[in-house]
Amino acid sequence: MGIRTGAQVLEGLRDGRRLYMDGALVKDVTRDPRLAGGARTMAQLFDMQHRPELIDEMTYASPASGERVGLSFLQPKTRGDLARRRKMYSHWHNHTLGMFGRAPDFVNVMLGSFAAGAEAFGPYAKNMTAYYEKAREEDRVATHSLTNPQVDRTRDVAAQAKDLAAKAVRETDAGVVIRGARMLATLGAYSDDLLVMPAPSYPLPDAEEAKAFAIGFHIPMATKGVKLINRPGVIQPGIGSSHDYPLSSRFDESDCMIIFDDVLVPWENVLIYRDIGIFNGIYRRVHAMGAMGHQFSTKDLCKAEFMMGLAMTLARATKVDEFLHIQGMLAELVNCVEVLRSCILAAEAEALMTPLGIIEPAMGPLGAVRYLFPEMFRRSCEIIQIIGAGGLAMVPSYAEINGPLAEDVKTYYQAAAADSDRRIRLFRLAFDAALSSFSGRQQLYERYFAGDPVRGAGNLYLAFDKAPHLARIDALLERFEAEDKALR
Ligand SMILES: Cc1cc2nc3c(=O)[nH]c(=O)nc-3n(C[C@H](O)[C@H](O)[C@H](O)COP(=O)(O)OP(=O)(O)OC[C@H]3O[C@@H](n4cnc5c(N)ncnc54)[C@H](O)[C@@H]3O)c2cc1C
Repeated sequence: MGIRTGAQVLEGLRDGRRLYMDGALVKDVTRDPRLAGGARTMAQLFDMQHRPELIDEMTYASPASGERVGLSFLQPKTRGDLARRRKMYSHWHNHTLGMFGRAPDFVNVMLGSFAAGAEAFGPYAKNMTAYYEKAREEDRVATHSLTNPQVDRTRDVAAQAKDLAAKAVRETDAGVVIRGARMLATLGAYSDDLLVMPAPSYPLPDAEEAKAFAIGFHIPMATKGVKLINRPGVIQPGIGSSHDYPLSSRFDESDCMIIFDDVLVPWENVLIYRDIGIFNGIYRRVHAMGAMGHQFSTKDLCKAEFMMGLAMTLARATKVDEFLHIQGMLAELVNCVEVLRSCILAAEAEALMTPLGIIEPAMGPLGAVRYLFPEMFRRSCEIIQIIGAGGLAMVPSYAEINGPLAEDVKTYYQAAAADSDRRIRLFRLAFDAALSSFSGRQQLYERYFAGDPVRGAGNLYLAFDKAPHLARIDALLERFEAEDKALR
């Protein structure tokens, strides 16, 4: 089959899934006005793969069928492959300005690593390989759910007083029955499949009662007993023009809680079952972290370049870019872009061949992006707020352009370097990027999408090879002591 068109993707989402929003079942996620904007974006991403000028940069010939398949499924063997894959990510994330963080490449890359290291899934290795190949050949979209609901974070999931988290409750000849809830499936409304996996920094205790939570599997979203609860949209649909919320109306990618109401997962869909060792160690064993970091760092670069360009355009509109402190802030955004670009290139240059026969981008520079980018993004929102100032609060609905005060609007909303139409559209874009509910959700996403940054930072410190640096300071103290002694 190979790459799908946008129309095929949308058709696939009309599968009878049980997705609830604002207190009611959504009949068709592709047509519901609260979700249709995101669905349109999904369709655009898939149609891009077919464009003659992009097809070679976004797809490759499947090693199994020879059909064109998405390049994010490529299992890289050389640094050139990494660069090719990065180019593919950039096409999607430049299109969405880095605001559709869970574009399908995110999970595709993860699947490629899981399949390369399929042996690490023990008795379910074949299932892992089969799912990767199916996803690649059928161009399927998966969302992933790695974490348990927030109940009492001082206790591990097996020791909760309120037992809500999804777990295996029984086995049958046909498969494993799952009951309970999981968070948090971004892209849930727009995914064909749901992939349940461990979270890298949330290990399970090695105890009998934890085994029921040691689960990994994939199922189609419309599987009997699966219920999704989507958070409210970031804007109310039908209000004003899409120029008022140009990002919210296109790139709200949906976030869902998943409820498993005695869902039967067939044995052929099971990836991890009751094995704490596999559950806790899988990411390290399959070398997935570098691959995932390379994908999201590329997304971050696309997002940072957009925010930089937006800030510069905004500053130029009212000529505040002639002030020194504004130039300083714009330079900060240039530096962010340069740091991100350099980290990605360094990760490619220092990539290492793994024992699995795939090459893994170096985690050091990508880990740095993971910890620096949330702050960079929040700062870019702040800089846009400082540059736009009162203009961001004063900018009217686009409808005023044709309202009863059209002539006044035409006159009084001009800026030095923009007529009123462009100025309103530009300032609405800046509002949506840096101030709106959409922007708040983006800031939260950047903080948490890759796990808890606090525990992540702790793990990074613990894993860092500190010995040469500690030894260097010891040697320095001794050297200074010796030099001082010699002077005495
Ligand atoms: C917008 C968005 C999209 C997301 N999309 C996805 C997705 O598609 N798939 C997916 O699987 N996940 C997704 N996530 C979830 C993400 O994996 C989690 O948010 C992240 O792992 C943090 O867990 P939590 O939200 O449960 O926070 P909690 O674990 O409840 O943490 C809340 C606070 O308490 C602190 N804390 C909690 N426990 C400890 C501890 N033991 N020690 C020290 N401090 C602690 C944390 O540092 C944090 O400050 C998404 C999150 C967001 C915000």
